[in-house]
Amino acid sequence: MTPDTKLIRKIIAPNGGVFTGGGTNTYIIGSDDLTLVDPGPIIEEHSKNILDNFGKKINRILVTHTHMDHSPLATPLAKELNVPLMGMIIKDNLEYQDLSFQPDVHLKDGELIKTDEYVIEAIHTPGHASNHICYLLKNNNHLITGDHIMQGSTVVIAPPDGNMKDYLASLKKLKNYNIEVLAPGHGDYIHKPFEAVDWIINHRLDREKKVLEKVRARQVIELDDLVKDVYDDVDPRLHRIAKASLEAHLIKLQDDGKVLAVAKTWKYIN
Ligand SMILES: [Zn+2]
Repeated sequence: MTPDTKLIRKIIAPNGGVFTGGGTNTYIIGSDDLTLVDPGPIIEEHSKNILDNFGKKINRILVTHTHMDHSPLATPLAKELNVPLMGMIIKDNLEYQDLSFQPDVHLKDGELIKTDEYVIEAIHTPGHASNHICYLLKNNNHLITGDHIMQGSTVVIAPPDGNMKDYLASLKKLKNYNIEVLAPGHGDYIHKPFEAVDWIINHRLDREKKVLEKVRARQVIELDDLVKDVYDDVDPRLHRIAKASLEAHLIKLQDDGKVLAVAKTWKYIN
């Protein structure tokens, strides 16, 4: 097996927006024995694009997680192509999840998917979603990151399925692997993977520090007020989305014994 830059190709689903940047990246691994990763939402044009260009050679479909912009096309495509679906099923906190996704192969952390052409390792990376998997293509050390890492923006960590403590642990976990390029679920390839990982970790910890400072300044505060204090550097139109990640930070700070949820407020603990 020699490294091959053509080993991984990308097509972009036409679902650009606030959460999805230019659209969801669908990856195709291999040249004859293809693995499709994250088919994306059910959009006729995207489905046709996948089938016309790669259809008969696709032998398996993987998904990084079951949010609506990543997995819904997986089930109809797997049926049409008669190939197995692989990934991790979502068990709890089913809101905003694609419940049609029922994998034929339930992947576990560290599991290898081997073909004659290449080997893929599944790396469980909970945080953005509890069932999130990154896929490491061992032949050229490209990591398909799904929504664990996006290019061009930070990801939303929305409780209860999203978990900030898990997210930070899953970012640090990537440092145990030989990774040369990140292939994100949205945006362009990232060629300095560990700089990107460190930037995200530091960004989250800086934000956490600011959350704690703002709660301490008010002692007791509601989420709707706190979001304005903590995200004063962010367009107010995005505050509704930011509230999810803010709550994730607060839950982590509560786990760390620094704040406490009391009725609808958050209280600073001395
Ligand atoms: Zn997602």
